[in-house]
Amino acid sequence: MRSPLDDRLDPESPGNRGGTYASSHGLTDADAQLRLLIDNVRDYAILTLDLEGRVASWNAGAERIKGYRAEEILGQHFSRFYPPEDVARGKPQAELELVTREGRFEEEGWRLRKDGSRFWASVVITALRDDQGILRGFGKVTRDFTERKLAQERLLQSEERFRLLIESIQDYAIYMLDPEGRVSTWNAGAERIKNYRAEEVLGQYFGRFYPPEDVARGKPQRALQVAAEEGRFEEEAWRIRKDGSRFWASVVITALYDPQGTLRGFAKVTRDFTQHKQTQERRELEMLRDAVLARDEFLSVASHELKTPLTPLQLKLTSLLRVVENHPEATLPVGRLTRDLDVARRQVRKLADLIEDLLDVSRISMGQLRLNRTPMDLTALAREVVVRYTPQALQVGSTVNLEAPAPLPGNWDRVRMEQVLTNLLTNALKYGAGKPIRVHVRMDSGLALLTVQDEGIGIAPEHQPRVFDRFVRAVSERNYGGLGLGLFITQQIVEAHGGIVQVRSTLGQGSAFTVLLPSGLDTKLD
Ligand code: ADP
Repeated sequence: MRSPLDDRLDPESPGNRGGTYASSHGLTDADAQLRLLIDNVRDYAILTLDLEGRVASWNAGAERIKGYRAEEILGQHFSRFYPPEDVARGKPQAELELVTREGRFEEEGWRLRKDGSRFWASVVITALRDDQGILRGFGKVTRDFTERKLAQERLLQSEERFRLLIESIQDYAIYMLDPEGRVSTWNAGAERIKNYRAEEVLGQYFGRFYPPEDVARGKPQRALQVAAEEGRFEEEAWRIRKDGSRFWASVVITALYDPQGTLRGFAKVTRDFTQHKQTQERRELEMLRDAVLARDEFLSVASHELKTPLTPLQLKLTSLLRVVENHPEATLPVGRLTRDLDVARRQVRKLADLIEDLLDVSRISMGQLRLNRTPMDLTALAREVVVRYTPQALQVGSTVNLEAPAPLPGNWDRVRMEQVLTNLLTNALKYGAGKPIRVHVRMDSGLALLTVQDEGIGIAPEHQPRVFDRFVRAVSERNYGGLGLGLFITQQIVEAHGGIVQVRSTLGQGSAFTVLLPSGLDTKLD
């Protein structure tokens, strides 16, 4: 009796020729449905071979994938689907023998279409045996995986390119650790920076890159722990090269988790920052040296400044003493005594001012500049200061013109504001001697504006940004005395009031210092 299978395997069976099935062959409905399904499936080439390997049935998918119509291929040997080199090696025959022995064969490989083009096939060949176990032929299911194969290759290629890229990077040591911290990849940068060749270090625990004292303290293991818990660990620290020498490393360790959340290992990127660190240390040393130099220079300038008023003071006091000793009380030359005493008092005042400036600087650097705000009128204060300095202005041949049209009320520290005005005005008198000086006080957009303008020596553009710095002087010590503190203190006072001070100046033509101050009227007073 012929089984339904026999019909399906028989190339002469009408149902197998056109890939269609006629229900008149006495098959059950289920068989007929299965047949229809097989015939019509387009994504799988499903065909049968007879015992010699000749095509016995052919479905729509086979036609689509391999390009042959059923009538062209039925009865042909299936080896024509293989590339010539496989045929030459007897591969098709070998596969059938294997299936005969083992019942099944599966592979992926190149196959040929009718037009000679290749496609990447996933193939399963199954032995077809009847009820008695007699081999009747072979079933073959083929899928076209060309697209998938190409995509895979592209991915592999890009992975390969990426791997090559990483391997060849020289400036970074980039390598991987397994979850236990053993080195599992090694790039050129790692070799260059740490001096180990890949074969020397693969499989080794990464703790060997740490200084012994760090290893003793369990630092390598802790770094991995932090990376595993927080995703990332980063530090700059000393590391050890193969020859035992140290280098300053910038290190990032990243934990690598798979999609299931299992720790797969760590990626480690290390840079050699030794030079960077040396440059930094050199720079810090230079700054330290500059600071020491500045301090020494300041001490010399300060002692000179403090000593200058002492000489006339001593002279005057000596001469006063002599006058008093040599004259009986009745004949004391009162006029001369008064003049000398006045000179002495001025020198003492100069000394007191210098010392006060020094005290201010130390207060500022200790953050102890406290404001004592009271309601006050800036215009009135400006008038007072200008009047006080009129004799000194006359002495140096300058006039001071005050332009202050209206009262300017605000909550400011009166003593400190007086200091600001005095500093700016005495600078104008010092660096603009012999030329007119203008002091302008006004209100603008809710701010109090104070400008002190002279027509003196001016400040070169390159010095302008620095004149407010501590101890900075833009003039030679020989021509002008001073500690380089006045503008620094001025700026600190103005900023403590929430204001700013700025300079506009042209070398040889004069300078204008402007203070902008919020009124402070909404500030709570003590
Ligand atoms: P000092 O006058 O004691 O040197 P300051 O802090 O008051 O210190 O000023 C810093 C520097 O700014 C001065 O040494 C000087 O070079 C420059 N400077 C300040 N005011 C003027 C001005 N009105 N005209 C020209 N230069 C000035």
